Amino acid sequence: MRLFVAVDLSGEVKAALEDIQGQLKGSGVHGRYTARENLHITLAFIGEYGDAQAVLDALEGVRFEPFGLGLDGMGSFGGLWWAGIRADGGLKGLAAQVRRQLAMANIPFDRKKFSPHITLIRDPDKQVIPQVKIPDVKMTVEGFSLMLSERGKRGMIYTELGTVSAGKEEERI
Ligand code: ATP
Ligand code: MG
Repeated sequence: MRLFVAVDLSGEVKAALEDIQGQLKGSGVHGRYTARENLHITLAFIGEYGDAQAVLDALEGVRFEPFGLGLDGMGSFGGLWWAGIRADGGLKGLAAQVRRQLAMANIPFDRKKFSPHITLIRDPDKQVIPQVKIPDVKMTVEGFSLMLSERGKRGMIYTELGTVSAGKEEERI
């Protein structure tokens, strides 16, 4: 199983990201646009690993409070354009905790430095990102998920295998 840990995004934030994608399309940028349901922030990439339950058990150890998040510009690495994220410190802390729990449980993950982003398009046919207007949206992150990544006929299919919610243990579902 190809696994990763991610923050899902609110409908409003996804709509804002689709708006940006629409602006890029309007500027004549062609490429592999991320489908709405696939928009996410990766906290940790595990990759091939057989025991999803062990990962969920490890993630249950993460304690965090809800935090705010907004969009912040665009950037690129290689053949990938992304939307940046403005977060009030909570996101970095969450990624660090997720990674700490995985490490403690001996679950392998990519240890590259966390660089929060939301992939909007892969392999764009232009070199320079056109001017876009980033909608001013905010959301509160109340949880994160373990995701399964599979290659479908028409692109990647991500399936949520479990979710961990913010707040104290006794308040959790
Ligand atoms: P594809 O690789 O076919 O373009 P994808 O990148 O959407 O599709 P995955 O490769 O399964 O699907 O990646 C799932 C998530 O994990 C994505 O957010 C991706 O950017 C991230 N990711 C993938 N590989 C790594 C890695 N080595 N280190 C950090 N994050 C990664
Ligand atoms: Mg990939």
